[in-house]
Amino acid sequence: MNSSSKKLLMIPGPIEFEPAVLRSTGAPTPSHVAPDFINCFADCLEMMKKVWLCPSGQPFIIAGTGTLAMEMAGANLTEPGDNALVISTGYFGERFAELLKRFGAKVTILSAPPGEVVPTGEIESALKKGNYKLMTFTHVDTSTGVRVDPKTIGELGKAHDVLTVLDGVCSVGGEELRQEEWGIDVALTASQKAIGVPPGLALMVVSQKAVNAWKNRKTPVGSYYCDWNNWLPVMEAYSNKKPSYFGTPPVNLIMGLDTSLKQILKEGVENRFARHKKTGEAFRAAMKALNLKAIPKDSFHAANTMSAPYFPENIKAEDFMSSMAASDVTVAPGLLPKLKGSYFRVGHMGAVSKADIISTVAAIEAALKECNHKFEPGTGLIAVTETLD
Ligand SMILES: *Cc1c(COP(=O)(O)O)cnc(C)c1O
Repeated sequence: MNSSSKKLLMIPGPIEFEPAVLRSTGAPTPSHVAPDFINCFADCLEMMKKVWLCPSGQPFIIAGTGTLAMEMAGANLTEPGDNALVISTGYFGERFAELLKRFGAKVTILSAPPGEVVPTGEIESALKKGNYKLMTFTHVDTSTGVRVDPKTIGELGKAHDVLTVLDGVCSVGGEELRQEEWGIDVALTASQKAIGVPPGLALMVVSQKAVNAWKNRKTPVGSYYCDWNNWLPVMEAYSNKKPSYFGTPPVNLIMGLDTSLKQILKEGVENRFARHKKTGEAFRAAMKALNLKAIPKDSFHAANTMSAPYFPENIKAEDFMSSMAASDVTVAPGLLPKLKGSYFRVGHMGAVSKADIISTVAAIEAALKECNHKFEPGTGLIAVTETLD
């Protein structure tokens, strides 16, 4: 019955994008040093500080994915022999640990069991023992849907004079984040998640403390492309409305970013946090009504930008996923190697509408029914619509 080509992309990135953003990316490509484009780049840098709530930070807009943003933070802030502490709540924490080792960091990893967070006391005692230069953590780990509290970790970093790096690829633009107030030195993301622009931009805002740590390095940055020596002058030039070049900026994506950041600020960051919180609650309520357990152990540590429900025990991943595929609503399979076949993931961030959420829950109900799961049909839909109101 697939008569329409209109599908709903409900994965944790890339997401559904606003039509106006897509129109901006489709405009004729100007020169990267055309006055209009210089203004657009300058606006984006200025707006990032507002979206990140980091008025004195240094924003970077670079061609690449979220992993490049992680790599840029790692490359510029670690020197061979530096101690780094990685707080891991899943797949992307492990990735950060591997990445930092490539730059010669001595990495200690504190890993939480799936669905849990590393207890604050454990982080604190590691910081007391360790003499760490930096600490990384994942705001929302997209493999588990676990959300940590960046405020507490930011404060710990400040108290122990350790640079804090937040992997916000699945959170910035959706989850509450107050970078400057919470003392977070680097908050990084990619365009295709809650920021709402097609894949291809690595984005980050860096505190002056982290910029100074980089300036005081004794050894050159171990990656030519990532070196802030190459990029900081470019960002400063664009901010001052001057042409500059190191590597050609992805002009069309940056025009899309301009439109998206304007939309985000028009909605208001506080409203956006609240909307995502509501959406997360509604989706969790629906899954609970359908008797699906979530990976996060408690709702305080459950992400609002995405969810990771377990399949009921008697349902096979393949069967559920193929029923979903036939519904025109695309969800993602599991990602964490340990639990891969036992759960699925749903993105509900950025431009997601009430109608999108309701359609997704309806499609999940239909797929569960096809797999003979026992539940009261319609209860998920009632739960989601009641919470969204
Ligand atoms: C998606 C994601 C990444 C990786 O981003 P890419 O753009 O795929 O490189 C890193 N961290 C988190 C938390 C993510 O959700």
